[in-house]
Amino acid sequence: MHPDLERVIHLQRIEDAAERARRTIADEPVRQQELAAGLAAAREALERERGRLAANQSARRDIEKELAMQQARLSKFRDQLMEVKTNREYQAMQKEIETAQQEIRKQEDRLLEQMLEFDEVTQHVKEAEQAFLHDQAAHEQERAALASQLAEAKVAIDTLAADRAALAAQISPPVLALFDRVLKYRKTSAVTPVRAGRCSTCQILLRPQTVVELRRNEIFYQCESCQRILYYEDVPAAPTASDAAARPVE
Ligand SMILES: [Zn+2]
Repeated sequence: MHPDLERVIHLQRIEDAAERARRTIADEPVRQQELAAGLAAAREALERERGRLAANQSARRDIEKELAMQQARLSKFRDQLMEVKTNREYQAMQKEIETAQQEIRKQEDRLLEQMLEFDEVTQHVKEAEQAFLHDQAAHEQERAALASQLAEAKVAIDTLAADRAALAAQISPPVLALFDRVLKYRKTSAVTPVRAGRCSTCQILLRPQTVVELRRNEIFYQCESCQRILYYEDVPAAPTASDAAARPVE
């Protein structure tokens, strides 16, 4: 292989790694937001259950107030019952007492329902608290992982820039200029392998003659479609007697 071709392939690997590091850095705010949103959802679920518990407690206080009031009425009617003079007054008072008793039973039933609901909602709050604590711990771990990925990416950017400069210094200026020109044009990659007779990036089928010329990886040839510098890979080199013997069975 042409030494400069080997170097630009290596240079492309450095570019790829640098691109991954840049993407890690660029994606970091969005990933932070996703993490925060996940935790906020768990917090909301917990608040919702706590809200139900508070509503249950408040309803229970209202029922207890209503019950106390009805019991006071009942006891007042019972006192009055002792003082009635006529049969008609007696019956009217009995009616009031019955109504109050019915109301008391109704409130007692409601109170029982609230107490059952209290047990259920209390259990839900407990579960939501545990889920939140679990999510919070996971969130902290993910934040820490994200922070270390970010730190690694920042270090990698510098390291890769140094590696790139060192490698670029060994490449002949016209080849380096070609690489940089294609990279600028294609944004992320300037070098790509030929596989199964095609440019592996844009997939255009190359002329058989071109593929034959590329096999030795001794020339600089740009894909006619995407302009990337092509090199030969995967498919075994033009068979010679020794190659044929060494080639694995396909
Ligand atoms: Zn191409």
